[in-house]
Amino acid sequence: MSIENNIKNYLSELPPTVRLAAVSKFHPFDCIRQAYQAGQRIFAESRPQELFKKVQQQAQCQDMNDIEWHFIGHLQTNKLKMVLPYVSLVQSVDSLHLLQAIDSWGRSNGKIVDILLECHVSSDDTKQGFSYDELLDFVSSDVEYPFVHVCGVMGMATLTDDEDVIRADFQRLLDRMDLLQDWIGESKNLPHGLSAAGQNASSWRCDQISMGMTGDWRIAVEMGSTMVRIGSGIFGPREL
Ligand SMILES: *Cc1c(COP(=O)(O)O)cnc(C)c1O
Repeated sequence: MSIENNIKNYLSELPPTVRLAAVSKFHPFDCIRQAYQAGQRIFAESRPQELFKKVQQQAQCQDMNDIEWHFIGHLQTNKLKMVLPYVSLVQSVDSLHLLQAIDSWGRSNGKIVDILLECHVSSDDTKQGFSYDELLDFVSSDVEYPFVHVCGVMGMATLTDDEDVIRADFQRLLDRMDLLQDWIGESKNLPHGLSAAGQNASSWRCDQISMGMTGDWRIAVEMGSTMVRIGSGIFGPREL
């Protein structure tokens, strides 16, 4: 199957409420071009250097300036400047420390950064993200982050063929989303953050649930995902 056909298949199978993030990490820019030509616009990268290089390649193609870049990998605070100017969403904010650093970067650079909180919901302990307790601390604290818009959650299920395990992981992510939305509903953050940077109040929604990858996206969509992140299902095995 060609990249073009894969994109078309996903776009035709996904409900209109679910966005497709094409995970182009470890694939050369030409793969992005092929997906773009098939109508794909959201591309997700996991390494700052690689994202930065691809953004520069994109700049050389006048016809591809409406790509929306997302970041989905572990982001070290000393790499923010390679990532934050170029992305429309950081899906992988996995600690309060990183969130604080993004907020101060936003303050210095006059940009409000849209983020998702990556939540640890799998039983794989290599996976990063906010634990339940960390998320509870975050939503219980009074500290405001006016240059960060928390737009939802991102999570990965355990790598397994056992559907029950995957469903239980995704359900945990949905529960974290409920916790977050309760907080946003009450949050003083919203008006404060928006006025601080002069943004339009209607533009911030906390409604994104990024869940589902090549192996488990059907389950994720059935359970209420609003964005799937598909890499190998579109581009094949990773190369670079
Ligand atoms: C690599 C990656 C994906 C894509 O994985 P595939 O199984 O190739 O679809 C999705 N999400 C995150 C966070 C990733 O790092």
